[in-house]
Amino acid sequence: MAVLYNKVALIGLGLIAGSLSLAIRKHGLAGQVAGYAKTAETRRVAEEIDLCDQICDTAAEAVKDADLVVLCVPVGAMASVMAEIAPHLKKGSVVSDVGSVKRATIEAVAPLLPEGVTFIPAHPLAGTEHSGPKSGFPELFENRWCLFTPLEGTDPEDLQKLEALWQGVGANLTEMDPDHHDLVLAVTSHVPHLIAYTMVGVADDLSRVTDQEVINYSAAGFRDFTRIAASDPTMWRDVFLNNKEATLEILGRFTEELFDLQRAIRRGDSDQLFDYFTRTRAIRRSIIEAGQDTDAPDFGRGTKTKKS
Ligand code: NAP
Repeated sequence: MAVLYNKVALIGLGLIAGSLSLAIRKHGLAGQVAGYAKTAETRRVAEEIDLCDQICDTAAEAVKDADLVVLCVPVGAMASVMAEIAPHLKKGSVVSDVGSVKRATIEAVAPLLPEGVTFIPAHPLAGTEHSGPKSGFPELFENRWCLFTPLEGTDPEDLQKLEALWQGVGANLTEMDPDHHDLVLAVTSHVPHLIAYTMVGVADDLSRVTDQEVINYSAAGFRDFTRIAASDPTMWRDVFLNNKEATLEILGRFTEELFDLQRAIRRGDSDQLFDYFTRTRAIRRSIIEAGQDTDAPDFGRGTKTKKS
């Protein structure tokens, strides 16, 4: 594949940056990938496993002469990272990000952009419950969506080039308004994570069920909740603090439906329960038909271990 950027700099060296670096290098999409992370330990591990062409000791060094800089840090760290790199960005370069919340990221990054640098927010809908430099793998973005929420007046050429990079690592692309993105993600990702965190917390609190029973007899439902609830605490704390409004709106609807199902169970309303579960089963089928998951029994365990 053709080289799209001479130098790409990745700030943050966790699951997303690591996967992006490995994929860019695998497909030959950049002349060079440089990386930087906050702690010396992460930088050491990244160096040891050859995550990037160059691991830098400062963010300034990483972004020097980069044509594309991708912020791969938790949403709550976007503003401070941007402030740190702003004086060192090359004129004509593009800054992008992979943050799971778009409105708050735009508000954190855009005001700090120096003259002559373009910001193009993006969010790859790909991840696992693992984090850190060793968790990345180059196939993470294959057949996953990458959502772009470009700002008004973005140069179409800059946008097309960044889209070509994400296409090059295997992603499907779409553009979206940032507020709509945050609402959609509240439904498809943020609230489901909160529910999983809650269910695992409830099991942990129940004194009538011992910890050992929860672990030994964990059925598919609970096991899948525990996988989601093992996701990185910093990342998810930042998601909820920065997508407050949409999360609370969807959570409100969720609790109303939950109360409704609770009443149906109490009343013994078998029709309501059956109809509800029939409707939700159809949604699962459409996700499989869209190629976004496998219909292998037991959620494909044993055949599909890395992707979430
Ligand atoms: P991760 O594996 O925990 O990695 C986060 C990285 O950010 C670490 O390398 C960390 O460095 C670095 N970092 C944190 N604060 C920093 C700072 N001030 N300066 C420089 N580096 C800093 O997280 P991730 O899963 O890759 O997530 C990164 C971003 O992608 C987040 O915004 C998240 O919302 C988004 N995202 C995640 C997923 C997912 O499923 N995981 C999916 C799509 C998008 P240290 O290790 O040195 O602390």
